[in-house]
Amino acid sequence: MAPTRKVVIIGSGPAAPLFRGHIGHPPVRKFGLIVLGLLAVGYLHWPWTGRLAAQVREDSPLAGRHRMVEDQIKARGIKDNGVLAAMLKVPRERFVPSEAASQAYADRPLPIGHGQTISQPFIVAYMTEGLQLTNTKKVLEIGTGSGYQAAILGELAREVYTIEIVPQLADHARKTLAALGYRNVHVRTGDGYLGWPEQAPFDAIMVTAAPDHVPQPLVDQLAVSGRMIIPVGGAYQDILLVSRTPTGIVQQRTIPVRFVPLVRPPR
Ligand code: SAH
Repeated sequence: MAPTRKVVIIGSGPAAPLFRGHIGHPPVRKFGLIVLGLLAVGYLHWPWTGRLAAQVREDSPLAGRHRMVEDQIKARGIKDNGVLAAMLKVPRERFVPSEAASQAYADRPLPIGHGQTISQPFIVAYMTEGLQLTNTKKVLEIGTGSGYQAAILGELAREVYTIEIVPQLADHARKTLAALGYRNVHVRTGDGYLGWPEQAPFDAIMVTAAPDHVPQPLVDQLAVSGRMIIPVGGAYQDILLVSRTPTGIVQQRTIPVRFVPLVRPPR
């Protein structure tokens, strides 16, 4: 007859045995404790590994940004490493209305309310690259809209001053930028045609709404060796690169685009 063995249950009670071991067999008990330990480590580890797994999920914002940078931006010739890093970092989904968040990394502009749009990612990258920013530069942006372009500029420049004519958009952008910690981006409500004379001169100026001519106040506020990127035209426009050299202003026509018009307040 086999010797009778006493069985002990380790756990919170007979109804919930975790596993069983034999009394009087220390190696087995030790093994049991090791397994328990491993289970505990695995359990504690889960939130971390779970988060990592979620980050690389196909539909995660980070995966969306990676695809955007590879397929829309690098593939079309943007090379500036600072611009690519900024586009990879700024959470575009935070700047679009929540109902459009799933489209945040699509290859097109998106509505942001008040008849306005956030520009297509490639255009943001193209215009930013044209400014040749470094972290010593002071930048003026006209047409804050969602604040996304301002955040990209804020990643690259020392200070960013941005002007939006629609008060609700300016307020919303100010809140989004503050929530994301952009303390070097300053939002003003007003008519950007006039620039921000108190902060001039600017090393770089970007206009993201289209006037039918280059506003003279903006030219006046451009520093020597400064660069301005601005869409100019009617319903369709060309992006102009306006540079101030020590001997004068130089204008260069670049790609065709379609921006919302730069509007002026009624006089
Ligand atoms: N840069 C924005 C998109 C710009 S859309 C972004 O990243 O989301 C163009 C913006 O220019 C709109 O929000 C529009 O209200 C604003 N705008 C139009 N005329 C303006 C003016 N005279 N001064 C300042 N902003 C103006």
